[in-house]
Amino acid sequence: MDTDGSLPKEAQIGPDPREMQDRAFASFCAVVPEYDARLTEGVGESRTSPLTGLELPGVTQATTDDVARAFAKSRNAQRLWKKLPLSERAKILRKFESLVWRYQDQILDVIQWETGKPRKHAFEELLDASQNAGYVTAKGPRILRTKKSSGAVPFLSTATVAHQPLGVVGVVSPWNYPFTLAFSDACAALLAGNTVVLKPASQTALTGILVAALLGRSGLPQNVFQLVLGPGRTVGEEVARRADYLMFTGSTKVGRSLAELCGQRLIGFSGELGGKNPSIVFPDADLEKWASTARRECFSSSGQLCVSTERIYIHDDIWDRTVALLIESIRSIKPGRDMSWTTDYGPLVDAAQFLKVSEQVQDAVAKGATVLTGGVPLPSLGPTGYAPTVLTDVTESMEIYAEETFGAVVSLYRWRDIDEVIDEANDSSYGLNGSIWCGDRSVAMKVAGLLEVGSVSINEAYGATWGAMTAPIGGFKESGVGRRHGPEGILKYTETQTVSTGPRSLDPWFGMTAEEWAKAEEILIRARNKAWRWNSR
Ligand code: NAP
Repeated sequence: MDTDGSLPKEAQIGPDPREMQDRAFASFCAVVPEYDARLTEGVGESRTSPLTGLELPGVTQATTDDVARAFAKSRNAQRLWKKLPLSERAKILRKFESLVWRYQDQILDVIQWETGKPRKHAFEELLDASQNAGYVTAKGPRILRTKKSSGAVPFLSTATVAHQPLGVVGVVSPWNYPFTLAFSDACAALLAGNTVVLKPASQTALTGILVAALLGRSGLPQNVFQLVLGPGRTVGEEVARRADYLMFTGSTKVGRSLAELCGQRLIGFSGELGGKNPSIVFPDADLEKWASTARRECFSSSGQLCVSTERIYIHDDIWDRTVALLIESIRSIKPGRDMSWTTDYGPLVDAAQFLKVSEQVQDAVAKGATVLTGGVPLPSLGPTGYAPTVLTDVTESMEIYAEETFGAVVSLYRWRDIDEVIDEANDSSYGLNGSIWCGDRSVAMKVAGLLEVGSVSINEAYGATWGAMTAPIGGFKESGVGRRHGPEGILKYTETQTVSTGPRSLDPWFGMTAEEWAKAEEILIRARNKAWRWNSR
């Protein structure tokens, strides 16, 4: 098949890199006019834009002392912020949403500048940030409202359940979806009455600055949202050492070490981590629809997406046709390093990511994997361009079999027996996301329930589950701890507090002896247990 890397020849040379660099810089300054490039020249590690190939502006790096100061200010600010009515907090966060749409062109320019992803994939971030703000501000107040519960003694005592904020929430976010992952988790934490200290990925620091600037413009009081920029191993770790709750999105390796730190401090931790996501294609699937969606499922943001599919299990009876359709669909991908809406596929984010992807493919090929398409660099996308790649004959001895690639490589496997394919799909330390392509909905639902993953889309790519804002999302096994979206994604930023009034004395009543009281208690408790059982029928 296509092992000559024919896609590279089709890649278009983008517009002048200097022009794109100037446009992105102007967009950044339109949202953050106070940014002064002269003050930050040469500050921090040098970063290259995967879009323009030119150096990105420096950003002032925080020290661990700066992090300590940010937390101290944040703690003070939280005392007032939590007293603001929920409706007021929601109003400010809604303003953020309207600013996202007002500045959408500028935000997209900056996301593309730092990540190199195509504009339409950058746009997914605005959709996601907007729908998070919409859900959290519309549904959050009701979810967080203090609710009545039954008291200890029916009719005589009361109990109410309140959701108190935790204090200062630390958010450590990755570079792959830098706008929405810096904002959306913070949004739920803020609505719940916490303040937030954000440490964005170093590669996408400017996008982090945009989020902070837009929140400031939304009317968020000073110090309620703070940004600390700098290396994860110092600045990120210090955030974990000081936060009252840590929301981390990133690799399983870093997530594990931060979870340990949080465990020692007995604070809450959410980790949205890596995946090796499986997809199962049944013989009765709509294969044309599958092939066109598979492009998105495997190669959106050049596969640098946590919920991207990296393993596809295709039924033996449809193998030849399915593989041919997939390769044909990949041929129609339009690669580019530009700011147009028509580009489908961009470079990988940096040299480290390029190395990881190419080494995994080389290792697989050296151990006997077959490249059906790609498997080569895509120089027209710059030094980090890598062609969308499809492999077969992948075996357990290859690193790519079990390790997350996070970059536009998918391995195809054949299957015949449904139980076996479910076992194979579950044969992973990860458990983030999966998809099932099947003509029979009831079979698909049954198989979905047997997959050890946090979300499953049927006859759709990841968007179906990710977009269901009212439903929680997250990982099984080493793909995560905790959930985002839905009520769980808001309530995790609170401590539940019960306040009761009325009698429930454990002393004998009305001059009873202890023995008489014990008998009376037994009768009462057994009657109430019966009532509960009856009620829950
Ligand atoms: P990463 O290396 O784990 O970095 C994520 C964040 O953690 C960055 O801000 C990074 O800062 C910081 N960090 C790195 N080392 C740290 C340390 N020792 N202590 C504290 N913080 C530290 O992950 P990534 O390469 O940016 O992102 C890719 C990974 O994220 C993939 O595995 C992907 O699957 C996962 N991801 C998961 C989801 C999800 O929802 N499940 C979503 C997106 C991405 P620096 O940039 O300064 O190193």
